Amino acid sequence: MKIPKEKKIYCKHCKKHTLQKLKEYKASTKSALKKHARIHERKHVKGYGGKARHTISVKKQSKRPTFVITCSICNKKSYFVANTRAKKKAELV
Ligand SMILES: [Zn+2]
Repeated sequence: MKIPKEKKIYCKHCKKHTLQKLKEYKASTKSALKKHARIHERKHVKGYGGKARHTISVKKQSKRPTFVITCSICNKKSYFVANTRAKKKAELV
């Protein structure tokens, strides 16, 4: 999937379409000892009734790539998710 580096996307801060710079979003590694991680483990993973809830039968082959966009006017960041699913990594042209 090819996508331009700069694109006109709606900015919720400016309340209009502005030219925004795109950058690929990369999820940060999550700490296993944080509070939400401990609660998730206790409620959904551990014990009886834990595993049955989170078994995934079908794994999807493609993903909708996410980008971090920066507004050229107000310099605020937001997310942009592509409309189509792509098997290959997103390529900024
Ligand atoms: Zn803006």
